[in-house]
Amino acid sequence: MEKKIICNCCGKEIETVNGIARQDYLPIKKAWGYFSKKDGKIQELVLCEDCWDDFCSRLAVPVATTEAVELI
Ligand SMILES: [Zn+2]
Repeated sequence: MEKKIICNCCGKEIETVNGIARQDYLPIKKAWGYFSKKDGKIQELVLCEDCWDDFCSRLAVPVATTEAVELI
């Protein structure tokens, strides 16, 4: 059985076909370091695009957005 990709924020499942995500999503992985209160801990979460947009809309400083350059 393949591992499900679940948005940590809303609980929605990211649709996959043969292990390939059919919707884009944001995987976050953070290894906390010495200057944190979580030294040595690794935390992971997934946000779906809707939750990412919602998160971005609440930021005091807007997300920096640039266009990806297509590699031919
Ligand atoms: Zn979500």
